[in-house]
Amino acid sequence: MIEDIDCDVFVRIQTDLLVVGDSIMTDRHHASNGNYEDDDPQNQIGGIIPAFSLSGWLRHGMEKVVQERDGTACHPGEANANFRKDGVYSRDLDAGYHPKGECLDDGDGNGCVILDLYGGFGNRPGKFMRRPIQFSPVRSSVDYTRGQAEGHYRRLNRNVVSRNEEDNREPLRNAELDAVGNLDGSWHLSFRETKPEFVALLAEAIEYLNDHQTDFMHQLGGARNFGGGIVDCELVNPLYEEHELRRVFDRGKGNTNKMDDKDDEWTNEYLPEFQTALAERVGEEL
Ligand SMILES: [Zn+2]
Repeated sequence: MIEDIDCDVFVRIQTDLLVVGDSIMTDRHHASNGNYEDDDPQNQIGGIIPAFSLSGWLRHGMEKVVQERDGTACHPGEANANFRKDGVYSRDLDAGYHPKGECLDDGDGNGCVILDLYGGFGNRPGKFMRRPIQFSPVRSSVDYTRGQAEGHYRRLNRNVVSRNEEDNREPLRNAELDAVGNLDGSWHLSFRETKPEFVALLAEAIEYLNDHQTDFMHQLGGARNFGGGIVDCELVNPLYEEHELRRVFDRGKGNTNKMDDKDDEWTNEYLPEFQTALAERVGEEL
């Protein structure tokens, strides 16, 4: 069954507000023509959301899935790193993590399922590539089959003002934030090797993240206290063909009968089999 799953899978990501620090790359130099104004609503700026925040967000969801199956997850930090907060690291180890790479010592040498996917220990390549999301405010130019999204770039200004009455709210400090609003698109993930347990872990993690989208721990990026990074997410049925994937994002069209059939197949046949493989693998790692 795993041979029916393409190495390219897509996750639908929808969020009202995404703030990823200073790391949104925009193409405003094209749009500006020398007179770019940050706050002009006419700006038609596209850009790229790098995969780092997305990858960490997804990994955290996957770690939860492993832990809910009574497994431990690879800690993302090197065990021999000089952590600034050593006590916090040890506390993580007590709360469902093992030191990164410890899992390589037993079994087939692939490590635990998280390490196998994410790689990174001693330059091991992960088996799973997380791509950046390219976004554009012009929906007609968005190609969902290439992991793109509709999204609206804005630079936000935050003022911290004086609390003394006689200062009349005089600004003490001004901070600028790069944000993408009304994001709706697909995140393109590629397995370098497609294993059933990988697909099940991805499906369960995305479901977990969707169910816990307002938990502070599982919001995406910054500005979480202000509702940033509350993400509706959904694994697009990996059995879909390209034209069906496009249809998912087409507000004017619903599922075809064939898509409904594939949804049933996915839910009733494929996913349970992959979940069994995941349960076995996590079980072996206990
Ligand atoms: Zn591990």
